[in-house]
Amino acid sequence: MRALSDHEMLRLWETGTGEHPVDRALSVLAAAFPDTGRDELAAMSVGRRDGHLMAVREANFGRRVSGVAECPQCAELLGWDLDLDALRATGSDEGGPGRLVIEEYELLYRLPDSTDLAAVALLDDVAGGRDTLLRRCVQGAYREGVAVEVGSVPEAVIFALATEMEARDPQAETLLDFECPECGLMWQALFDVLTFLWTELQARARNLLDDVHDLARAYGWSEKDILGMSTARRRYYLEKT
Ligand SMILES: [Zn+2]
Repeated sequence: MRALSDHEMLRLWETGTGEHPVDRALSVLAAAFPDTGRDELAAMSVGRRDGHLMAVREANFGRRVSGVAECPQCAELLGWDLDLDALRATGSDEGGPGRLVIEEYELLYRLPDSTDLAAVALLDDVAGGRDTLLRRCVQGAYREGVAVEVGSVPEAVIFALATEMEARDPQAETLLDFECPECGLMWQALFDVLTFLWTELQARARNLLDDVHDLARAYGWSEKDILGMSTARRRYYLEKT
């Protein structure tokens, strides 16, 4: 994978702006990994997907990530600054089919991927959505060796399945740890790599368009010509306007 060109960055911004985040993540990956089909990208486990999005972030915007968190108790603002490597989960496996045996149940399953996220994205009920997502991933359910409906599998067994999936695909949920220097509260917040990356990509796209606007107005050059210039050359001309 390589960094996106200015053209590609703008095209991605155009496509992704109107998309649901699940599709937007796939559009980012399709732009960064043009040799991989969209179906193949959609079938990546959520953790692998996020790992790839982190690689896209690093290739285009570097490894440092920073932000500001607000203490949920006293509203103190905490600046944070990390290397992406600190957010990379370890211990994920190759992501193939799994088999969970618990009490008298046996479940054959796969890890949740983007198609599952898309399927539950339209559901209003978060808890129900999570249950639906997990049950979608069960490819075979047996009780004492006899096939049963996934719907009849008890909640506790589905919970154990969720735990096993999290252990196998840990990048699917990346948490930041905070401790408030004012009130001492400790809490965790989700680091959503897609939201983070998309905010940066949007800002980059708008800056590029501003540059095109300024240069086109000053010199009458076309958008294609302006975007075809190196950043250094564009900067130079902009300083002259
Ligand atoms: Zn606090």
